[in-house]
Amino acid sequence: MLDKHQGARLANLWDDGKAAGMTEPEKLLYRSNLLGSDKRITNYGGGNTSAKVMEKDPLTGEMVEVLWVKGSGGDVGTIKMDGFSTLYMDKLRALKGIYRGVEFEDEMVGYLPHCTFNLNPRAASIDTPLHAYVPKPHVDHMHPDAIIAIAASKNSRELTSKIFGDEIGWLPWKRPGYELGLWLEKFCQENPDARGVVLESHGLFTWGDTAKEAYETTIEIINRAIAWFETENTGPAFGGRSKPVLAAADRAAIAKKLMPVIRGLVSAGESKVGHFDDSQAVLDFVTSTSLEPLAALGTSCPDHFLRTKIRPLVVDFDPAQPDVGNTLAGLPEAIATYRADYAAYYERCKRADSPAMRDPNAVVYLVPGVGMITFAKDKATARISAEFYVNAINVMRGASGVSTYVGLPEQEAFDIEYWLLEEAKLQRMPKPKSLAGRIALVTGGAGGIGKATANRLMQEGACVVLADIDETALEAAQTELSTQYGKDFVRSVNMNVTSEAAVESGFGDALLAFGGLDILVSNAGLATSAAVEDTTLALWNKNMDILATGYFLVSREAFRIFRNQKAGGNVVFVASKNGLAASPGASAYCTAKAAEIHLARCLALEGASAQIRVNVVNPDAVLRGSKIWTGEWKEQRAAAYKMDVDELEAHYRERSMLKLSVFPEDIAEAIYFLASDMSAKSTGNIVNVDAGNAQSFTR
Ligand SMILES: [Zn+2]
Repeated sequence: MLDKHQGARLANLWDDGKAAGMTEPEKLLYRSNLLGSDKRITNYGGGNTSAKVMEKDPLTGEMVEVLWVKGSGGDVGTIKMDGFSTLYMDKLRALKGIYRGVEFEDEMVGYLPHCTFNLNPRAASIDTPLHAYVPKPHVDHMHPDAIIAIAASKNSRELTSKIFGDEIGWLPWKRPGYELGLWLEKFCQENPDARGVVLESHGLFTWGDTAKEAYETTIEIINRAIAWFETENTGPAFGGRSKPVLAAADRAAIAKKLMPVIRGLVSAGESKVGHFDDSQAVLDFVTSTSLEPLAALGTSCPDHFLRTKIRPLVVDFDPAQPDVGNTLAGLPEAIATYRADYAAYYERCKRADSPAMRDPNAVVYLVPGVGMITFAKDKATARISAEFYVNAINVMRGASGVSTYVGLPEQEAFDIEYWLLEEAKLQRMPKPKSLAGRIALVTGGAGGIGKATANRLMQEGACVVLADIDETALEAAQTELSTQYGKDFVRSVNMNVTSEAAVESGFGDALLAFGGLDILVSNAGLATSAAVEDTTLALWNKNMDILATGYFLVSREAFRIFRNQKAGGNVVFVASKNGLAASPGASAYCTAKAAEIHLARCLALEGASAQIRVNVVNPDAVLRGSKIWTGEWKEQRAAAYKMDVDELEAHYRERSMLKLSVFPEDIAEAIYFLASDMSAKSTGNIVNVDAGNAQSFTR
């Protein structure tokens, strides 16, 4: 394999000094994290590790043999001690007595909780018998690209023996479960000197007498496969290049055009979030002669296609004569055809008790010369799906370079995809949050109201792009929010809302980051104060530029995206009480705020036929956390009311009808209401959040 990641050998990271004082379970954790730290060894969430350890039984005080094994749904790279399930080995062995045969193997999963040691609440995974029945104290099961490339080759048995001799055995494809555990046990009994086994179309099992030996064997075996590919797979990747690679900026430009349109076409059932990947491994594949035939064969390792669907959609785009308009026009039919093919696959393969057909849309979209786009229910899933398809690309590159690549037979793939045990896992997932899969852009996102709004929307599952002109505050806000909600949910763009070019490029960055847009919160602002005769033209224009023109520019950009995406849209303006109520000595500010409110009404009218809603929140006197309410403006306001700046908050509170202070979180709550489906039938509205002010009653 010639990929830059594939070229290098895996390093042996085991540190005797670190491991010296560790208990056996701690060494298992150490080894697991080392293995999972490199995606060439195993994919995210893929594979598992185990150790058989003597422990004191809490009931009898006797020493008993306990299997520690990665629990259900974990990831070896990030697993912690509580991610392992623990089971009595004698009880696991006793299960053989009640096993009714392969057609009943799924029922064995129900017996695993009966084998739990020490009331450990971590659910045991389907792979537990695979570890229990290998008669070795330490067992690793990994999904290394280099091994799966062998396992997914037409002559994988022959290749395995050619590369590893008798050291590593080979077992034909078998869905992971109780029966495969018995196969592994039988293999070990018949081949006591073997150090591991390749599972056809799946991955690798290795073992050892100590944690260190198991780890080093795993690394050594994968490195031997990598080295073998280095000498054997020397031809051009995927049979050679047949299409040009576009320049990086052009690739991004094409992706920005395609992503919102694809998103609109595949988000009918649930809103989806996108991810774009144009790494070298992807580009090698999407420019190759083998792109179409290999993509059609589908992915092999079950872990891969559970994340990526059995096959990707190859977008009709010719990088030699780029005409994105043509491609966009063809997308509805291409996506409808994919859905019909998927439904036909479901009908061909379904069994009497199969769960209902799931979302028939593609997850992976391959664009020749440009890269790979993925769409899933949230950003993390879209990103991880892309990582899995890169694993699949590496596998196809290896297998097709030395042999013929084979995907999993369709019925086997279906039986895994619609496995009742997988369905049960999906049913256990928590209900999605109210803004799951929605994408919002908040201008002034680093300030008081903007950041509180981003926080509120992210609490409900939205992905948020923070747009602000203040680079330092922007960085701080992004760090704060990504610490709270995870890096996948937030991006930031430097945006001067008065610059047409900055607005266009900021929205473009948002499209590339998340694949589309559902919600625009236009909030970037300023406030000035001066008697009309002292208002300079510059001051007047500044208010108009930021408040009126700025709101126009971001709305126009959002409308363009909404119309391409064809999935409705939502705009919330943060205006001001002063847009309705006149205030002394602030004519430029009040007039610009009134313009915002009227712009919102015009846009509500224009957007309605495309299900684009536009509403306004009118705050008043939100002092806390505000960048507007610092320095000059605060002093000017205090002077206007002939009081000290520290008295302002109390002044505004007492002035309100409800005698309450208004905080950024209060404004954010109203924005969330207007941005969510709770207000699905409201447009052209104004919600005052000002603790009551008769002057701004709407009529
Ligand atoms: Zn596996």
